[in-house]
Amino acid sequence: MRFSWISFLMQTNMRTVRTLFFVCILTLVSIAANPPADNSAVNPVIQTALQPSPLQDNLRRLTDEIGGRIPGTRAMQHAVQWGMQAFTAAGADMVHSESFEIPYSWSEGATEMTATTAHQVSSMGVGGGTVLSSFRVRAVSVAWAPALDPVKHVPMVDVGEGTDADFQKAGDISGKIALVHTTVLKTWADLFAEYANAPPTITRAAKAKVKAVAFMATREHDILYRHTNSGAGEIDRLPMVIVAREDGERIARLLASGSLVWADLAIPNQIGPPVKSSNVIAELRGSEKPDEFVILGAHLDSWELGTGALDNGCNAALVVDALRAIKASGMPLRRTIRFILFSAEEQGLLGSRAYATSHRTELDKAAGVVIYDSGTGKTTGFSVGGRKDVLLIARALMAPLVQFDVKDVKPDMEWGTDHFDFMLEGVPTFVADQEEANYLENYHAVSDTLDKVDFSQLKKHVAEAAALTVELANLPEKIGPRLTHDQIEQTMRDTNSVEMMKADGIWDDWVSGKRGRQK
Ligand SMILES: [Zn+2]
Repeated sequence: MRFSWISFLMQTNMRTVRTLFFVCILTLVSIAANPPADNSAVNPVIQTALQPSPLQDNLRRLTDEIGGRIPGTRAMQHAVQWGMQAFTAAGADMVHSESFEIPYSWSEGATEMTATTAHQVSSMGVGGGTVLSSFRVRAVSVAWAPALDPVKHVPMVDVGEGTDADFQKAGDISGKIALVHTTVLKTWADLFAEYANAPPTITRAAKAKVKAVAFMATREHDILYRHTNSGAGEIDRLPMVIVAREDGERIARLLASGSLVWADLAIPNQIGPPVKSSNVIAELRGSEKPDEFVILGAHLDSWELGTGALDNGCNAALVVDALRAIKASGMPLRRTIRFILFSAEEQGLLGSRAYATSHRTELDKAAGVVIYDSGTGKTTGFSVGGRKDVLLIARALMAPLVQFDVKDVKPDMEWGTDHFDFMLEGVPTFVADQEEANYLENYHAVSDTLDKVDFSQLKKHVAEAAALTVELANLPEKIGPRLTHDQIEQTMRDTNSVEMMKADGIWDDWVSGKRGRQK
């Protein structure tokens, strides 16, 4: 998953002027230390990356053979083995895994939902009256939501889009099942809204003491999907299902026409104690500054209704193939490159957070973190985690990528993928910005399968990722310093990211020192 925070125009005040001055100085110092790279130097890496490779077969094995990969399952263990073997075959100098704990294991049982409605029939002769009719509602549990023992004949109520006003209008709905309307997912902004709206809606539903929440799917044509709305792998507050959009709209129309609708609902989720999951790490060692390192990463885990091909199997396979291309090109490396397949990204960035935290003491030596997590839509550029001080050099590093139309460098602070905890540790980060392509319609869905992957585009992304990573590894000095706690916080303010961090519940952890760079 991933999306970017919306940036608003900065208000000019003295603090901003001071900050801009500070940024200018940092940039000038940085440029002096880092003259523009010899861009042609990475051409052999790009050329090697574009040659035939095991990319497609690697991804086929990960998706078709292993399938969806939820941390704590056998499939995830197999995926970790896949990563270790693939890195070894690609020519890594070293491969290992590092385990961490996630708070709960979770799996869905046989979720069942049936809707029943009463309607009047009249006959030309005698009789007529109220009859009941039922239909099956295609539904799946929201991930990391609690189980619900089977309930029967529970009244359903339409709570619109789940705003405060909607819940007030609905009145006393305790014990009922709340149907929440959604918008069809078409743009990154829609995805942002979906993630932003769910938690406050759930809070209101919990306050209203509803029995369960039924979200209308944000995809049409009966496509079901799942993800979690809990931020750090905790079990959410209420039983929740996602219902096929067509079924949800039908229920909404029945209720709007004055009919009563009841649901039978069973959500037998299995929730277990803490489980271990593993990140997979491979290295190509640098020769001049082997202790300094660049990370190229993507998450290996996925939701399991589909096989996690676009999110994020394709980019896990990209990371492996980038290692192969760099090694095969024979390009000398000044710094070490770590290629990391993170786990439990989907449960709240848990794998990358565990890595950033456990490697905190060596992050002064981190020379950049590059992350891909948006399927195979064309890369348009990179977001640099709010770091205005690295903008100019980052733009210079784009020169070899212009042949692929990659040129935008945005100072946005992004949320929602594995660079996040490195960004909070002050390390320069680079998240690939990509076109939506077919990512959103298949997002976390039954339809996220290998046939959706655009392999010719993915090959170009391997070349881009390998080139950018090598450029970062070979700059005379690191592209930028590790920021201090106060500098990171100033970056949050400069990019108007504080409100969003508050909404996501991250701000308190940042302020208390539970998350991110220590003071
Ligand atoms: Zn993802």
